[in-house]
Amino acid sequence: MKAFRLHNPRTIEEALQLLEPERVSSLKTAVLAGGMDLVTELKEYLAQPDDIVNLKGIEGLSGIEAEPGGGVRIGALCTLARLEEHPVLQRTHAVLTQAAASVASVQIRSQATLGGNLNQRPRCWYYRNEESVCLKKGGTECFSYGGLNKYNAILGGGPSYIVHPSDLAPALLALDASVELVSRKGMRTVKIEKYFTLPSEGDVLRETALEPGEILRSVVIPPQKVWMRSTWLKFKEKSSFDWALSAVALCAVTDGKTIREARVALGGVAPVPWRAKAAEAALANAPMERKSFEAAAEAALRGAEPLSQNAYKIPLTKGLLIRALESLAG
Ligand SMILES: Cc1cc2nc3c(=O)[nH]c(=O)nc-3n(C[C@H](O)[C@H](O)[C@H](O)COP(=O)(O)OP(=O)(O)OC[C@H]3O[C@@H](n4cnc5c(N)ncnc54)[C@H](O)[C@@H]3O)c2cc1C
Repeated sequence: MKAFRLHNPRTIEEALQLLEPERVSSLKTAVLAGGMDLVTELKEYLAQPDDIVNLKGIEGLSGIEAEPGGGVRIGALCTLARLEEHPVLQRTHAVLTQAAASVASVQIRSQATLGGNLNQRPRCWYYRNEESVCLKKGGTECFSYGGLNKYNAILGGGPSYIVHPSDLAPALLALDASVELVSRKGMRTVKIEKYFTLPSEGDVLRETALEPGEILRSVVIPPQKVWMRSTWLKFKEKSSFDWALSAVALCAVTDGKTIREARVALGGVAPVPWRAKAAEAALANAPMERKSFEAAAEAALRGAEPLSQNAYKIPLTKGLLIRALESLAG
């Protein structure tokens, strides 16, 4: 690990001052929350900042608050354990609490934060290998394309084929949430759908729209329809802690017989949390029966382009979506 200067601001203003692009190069300054990803990156020389701005001493960034009209605001420093255990969210936003509960181990969830989970870096082993200079680290090639790609993207890939590792991201996408980003210039709100950027569209070295000098301050979930029900299903290779091979976040408004509307987001299959709009269209006003669920699953995976070792993700993801829909129907 390279030596660095650690800063412990007490307020968000102090933290933002430390992140000012004119003052420090953003690549040379890192933000620290629970440290569950950043510390690994430091140890493996994937991140080599000169300065680290530790957010944990800042008060008022970890709350879960009801917003007028039924929305919810969650501070970036809220731990995943706190989210998972929240008794009201468990009832009203099951997709989120279930996704939080599916992350890693209880020890990690007690330390890991929402902001850190959304901003964690890819798990692709070419990226994580200190010695490989892949596309994500300024190289010229995504080695997974012609190499070991069992865990990589089947949707939205190219030129990099990472999958986004966050479980919270698809759940928040299905809930149509936004993130609030603060910098010395002020605050901006970005929909989760726009926050994560495809390698073909954004800077291939990054996964989000977070700009130098910005901190993700909170996540805002808009009011949901009264009859909205939601669920999260994740398939892992190991039964202990593991990232998703595939995951489904589903929010649906139903009357018991018909699905009025649905939002479907997939995890573990694309470089961003992947919104399955074709599945949503197939589910709109569809009867709650197996045939509709199968049609939605087909639609969700239409356009998938598996690599040499990950075609299994297609039937796996279809099966997860069908099961998620069945669980809401049951
Ligand atoms: C063994 C293991 C298993 C895991 N399994 C899963 C899993 O199944 N599912 C899953 O989703 N995750 C999994 N993870 C990842 C883990 O959830 C994340 O590492 C964790 O959530 C990161 O949160 P943190 O607060 O520790 O972030 P940190 O490690 O402190 O930060 C992570 C990144 O986010 C940036 N960051 C942090 N907070 C902010 C902020 N407020 N604004 C802007 N940038 C910020 C940091 O600069 C850093 O780049 C696993 C991790 C481990 C070690």
